[in-house]
Amino acid sequence: MRLQLSPELEAFREEMRTFFTTQVPQEIRDTVAARRHVSKDQYVEAQRALNAAGLAVPHWPVEWGGKDWTPLQRHIWREEMQLASVPEPLAFNTSMIGPVLAQFGNQEQKERYLAKTANLDIWWCQGFSEPDAGSDLASLRTTAVRDGDDWIVNGQKTWTTLGQHADWIFCLCRTDPTAEKKQRGISLLLFPMDTPGVTLRPIELLDGSFEVNEVFFEDVRVPAENLVGEENQGWTIAKFLLGNERVGIARVGTTKSYLALAKELARETTVGGRTLLDDPRMAGRIAEVENELLALELTALRVVANSADGRPHPASSVLKLRGSELQQAATELLVDIAGPLSLASYADGGSDVPDWARVTVPEYLNYRKVSIYGGSNEVQRTIIAGTILGL
Ligand SMILES: Cc1cc2nc3c(=O)[nH]c(=O)nc-3n(C[C@H](O)[C@H](O)[C@H](O)COP(=O)(O)OP(=O)(O)OC[C@H]3O[C@@H](n4cnc5c(N)ncnc54)[C@H](O)[C@@H]3O)c2cc1C
Repeated sequence: MRLQLSPELEAFREEMRTFFTTQVPQEIRDTVAARRHVSKDQYVEAQRALNAAGLAVPHWPVEWGGKDWTPLQRHIWREEMQLASVPEPLAFNTSMIGPVLAQFGNQEQKERYLAKTANLDIWWCQGFSEPDAGSDLASLRTTAVRDGDDWIVNGQKTWTTLGQHADWIFCLCRTDPTAEKKQRGISLLLFPMDTPGVTLRPIELLDGSFEVNEVFFEDVRVPAENLVGEENQGWTIAKFLLGNERVGIARVGTTKSYLALAKELARETTVGGRTLLDDPRMAGRIAEVENELLALELTALRVVANSADGRPHPASSVLKLRGSELQQAATELLVDIAGPLSLASYADGGSDVPDWARVTVPEYLNYRKVSIYGGSNEVQRTIIAGTILGL
């Protein structure tokens, strides 16, 4: 089954495909296609190439660099970008703080930050989770206490993705510890990562990579004007931000590229006199993931089509849940196709084991994260049960 597009949308798809495959440096796309670590410079170069063509933040309001596209055009844009192995515009900038500032920021904040955020002149990181406040985010304990024209921030964040590259952090802080409901006493503050009193400590992940950090705040002085929205309105803003985070998280195009790769490798790998693709069990597994992915794609289209006023549909939780499960299923397929070769994950450059096989296990391990971040899958199930199924 294929999605039938109108001739205009087919032309739009072609335009996106041509741009992504000719205007984003090949060496950067090769790094993504080989599922290798993308450097900070590569992220910045790719996002600036997109932004120069107006393709970094099409989902933002037109006034701030967005495009008046339909949800289907946005879907095609994202999918073609993923299929072309272009690093996606940094989510912290484009899906999180950018839309938040456009919606809740004052005019001065919009003018000060939005263009630089779209162009990745400012690299943002997300300071939400704390050691005892992940799923139960409203329990966060980092405090911001007003002192004249400043806030004084104390506390700790954790799992701060790519904080080592970040120029600024958007940080949820408790500003009213006496509020009757803990959700009511939280505010969102912005401050540079090099403000005195901010310390970053890297966390090593299961695959040996360093992409998350702990961040500590000790008497960090933040100007009062860096508050976003109203004081104690942080929970409303956080819910808006997390819903947006989930919409882009299904990564249908990325899983499609993984499946295309899995098929190609299964066709090239011979075991017991036949290719793996001729093995009924392997062929069945690939077909099953492909079918599930098509169902997810249709759901994704329905979700974006029903998002009113830029607010995400509650079914964005379904996208998060199934999207992460299918990404994990695809990485598992690649490990199984590599078979014993996958054990050579950390073999050095002199190894006979092909590159694609060497990255399968680290990648499989790294992808355990996708069912945790953006709100764990267990929590998504609770949201689906309450808001969609009415249980
Ligand atoms: C790789 C990675 C990157 C991340 N990046 C960022 C980032 O940049 N910024 C940021 O702020 N945060 C980030 N996070 C944090 C992420 O949002 C949290 O890890 C997530 O919300 C889960 O919180 P927790 O780790 O504290 O687990 P906990 O909340 O302690 O949960 C532990 C387990 O209990 C389950 N559980 C908890 N509550 C319930 C419930 N009510 N019902 C059913 N099951 C439940 C969870 O599903 C999980 O399995 C990142 C996490 C990871 C792994």
